[in-house]
Amino acid sequence: MDRKKIVVLGTGGTIAGTAASASDHLGYTAAQLGVVQLVAAVPALAAGPWELLTEQLAQVDSKDMDFDIWARLVRRVSHHLAQADVQGMVITHGTDTLEETAWFLQALLGPDKPVVLTCAMRPATALAPDGPQNLLDAVAVASHPGACGVLAVCAGVVHGAREVQKVHTYRLDAFSSGDAGPLAYVENGGLRLLRNWPAAPAGQAQTAMKNIANLGEKRRWPRVDIVLSHAGADGAVVRALVADGVRGLVVAGTGNGSLHHALESALLQAQAAGVKVVRATRCLEGRVLSSPDDALADSQGLSPVKARISLLLELLAASDAPA
Ligand code: ASP
Repeated sequence: MDRKKIVVLGTGGTIAGTAASASDHLGYTAAQLGVVQLVAAVPALAAGPWELLTEQLAQVDSKDMDFDIWARLVRRVSHHLAQADVQGMVITHGTDTLEETAWFLQALLGPDKPVVLTCAMRPATALAPDGPQNLLDAVAVASHPGACGVLAVCAGVVHGAREVQKVHTYRLDAFSSGDAGPLAYVENGGLRLLRNWPAAPAGQAQTAMKNIANLGEKRRWPRVDIVLSHAGADGAVVRALVADGVRGLVVAGTGNGSLHHALESALLQAQAAGVKVVRATRCLEGRVLSSPDDALADSQGLSPVKARISLLLELLAASDAPA
C-alpha cells in the first residue's frame, strides 16, 4: 500500500537557527538551516509510516513575518492539501508569530486535514535542541487518523489555532491555550486527545477561495492596527492612524475590554468615520463578555493579534477593499 504523504514546509525560525556556541541560547541567528537539514537531523522521521516531502517556502525570523509570505503560504498549503495522497502538513515556524500564522491559515482554510505548525525555543546548534523532538511530534500529529484543522505542537503539547498563544520568553514549553487547555498531548509518538479537533466554520472553503483570490489581485492589504488601553492613555495614536488612512483598529482593552475614556472617545469617532473597530482584552486569559449596549464590537474571544487578522481578512473579502 502507498504510504500517505506528509508535506513539511520550512519558513525559518529558531528551529532553523544556529549559534557559534552550543551553550548559547540567545546569541543565535534564526532561519539558517533549510528544511531538508531539519528533517535529516531526525533519523526517526525516515523510519516512520509516511512519505515526507519537503519544501522551503521562506527563511525568516518570524518576528519579520509579512503579508507576502502569508499570501504564498496560504496558496502552497491549499495546493498541497488538495492532493488526495497528502494526509497532512507540517510547517516549521518561528515562535514569535506562530499563533498569528496559525490563525491566519485556520481562518482562511479551516482545513479538514491537519496543518501542524511547529517550532523551537533553542537553536538547532544547542547542546540539547528542542526542535528535533518537536518536528517528530508534529509529523506524528499530522499523520494521526482523524486529525484536522490548524494546530501547533511544542514541547509535547498540541494546541488549536484559535487558542494558542506564546506566553513565555524562553521556556521550552512556551505556549498555552489559556482557559481552553491543550487539545492533546504527544506521548511517545502517540496522541492523547483531550477535546475535539477544531471544526471548520460552515461555508469556510468558499470564503477561503474568494479571499485567496483577493490576496493575489489586490496586492495592498488593508491597514489594520492594534492600540492599547492603559493608564494615562489618550486618543492621539488613534487620530494619527485615522489621518494615515487606517481601515481597521483592534483595541486591547483592560480587563473585560474596558477602555480609558479618552481613548474610547477617539475610537468612537474613528468608528463614526467608517473605521472598523474591534475590542479585545489585554488579559492573557478569559474573553470579553459583551452586553447589548456595547458601542464597540468585541473580538469573539480572539486575542488582539488574532482579532487583527480576522479584521484584515474581513476587510480583504469586502468588495470595497482597495485595489
Ligand atoms: N525570533 C524567533 C522567531 O520567531 C524566535 C523563535 O523561533 O523562537 O523566528
